[in-house]
Amino acid sequence: MWSLNGWRRRRVLARHPVDQAVWNRIRQRIAILDGLNAEQDQRLRDNCVFFLQDKHLNALPGVDLDDEQRLFLAAQAQLPLLNLGDLNWYQGFHELLLYPDDFVSPQRHRDPSGVEHEWDAEHSGEAWLQGPVILAWPGVLASGGWDAYNLVIHELAHKLDMLNGTANGMPPLHRDMHGKDWAKAMQSAYDHMNRQLDHDPDAVTAIDPYAAENPAEFFAVTSEYFFSAPDVLAEAYPAVYQQLKGFYRQDTLARLRHLQHEHPAYTSHH
Ligand code: ZN
Repeated sequence: MWSLNGWRRRRVLARHPVDQAVWNRIRQRIAILDGLNAEQDQRLRDNCVFFLQDKHLNALPGVDLDDEQRLFLAAQAQLPLLNLGDLNWYQGFHELLLYPDDFVSPQRHRDPSGVEHEWDAEHSGEAWLQGPVILAWPGVLASGGWDAYNLVIHELAHKLDMLNGTANGMPPLHRDMHGKDWAKAMQSAYDHMNRQLDHDPDAVTAIDPYAAENPAEFFAVTSEYFFSAPDVLAEAYPAVYQQLKGFYRQDTLARLRHLQHEHPAYTSHH
């Protein structure tokens, strides 16, 4: 889908036009799209059409999915890819399963002594290697603001991470990036959080303590912050912000600052 040449792209877009009024509502509902310029807005909108042609949104009973809701999901899925070119970043899965509520899923973990632990955990999202992305619909609906929460971006960040093997916190980096710099920035922030939580499990961490769970969650959570609370992330872990800026090729902090500068009353998350 993503390597389509120009005329085929235009044909797909012509066959699946996005209603302007619906798109306007999407822009109103998703604050983290504020500040995109007209060219970026158009590109995002077109990419939503390709995304919705390429992926199957499978809504379970209880999820009310109309064109606007599909677009609401697609726009958040496509924001991270906006400047990443035509590569097929969401390859390897075709389905997004939408659950009406949080779901219980069996967890398994082998501890250092070799003992397998299994338990059930409440989840609002999951991304399986080579499998579908599962999203709890209320979590999708709660996403889109500058409030350090975005279930769609979180789960899809796991998919980006998995592009070069298992989820290990490092997606395939661009040629102008260095694995060493990435690892150093991520590891030192991750270690910092873990030291804080080892010292006091109830410590108030600068970002969601779930990031300290493992390197894959660290990448997913910091990606979430990069797009929905870049000021918090950049202040807490500036080197992490810089690496994510290099990876996503966006400067979300500059965009947020510009909005706040233009509109002093621009609401932020705190
Ligand atoms: Zn996760």
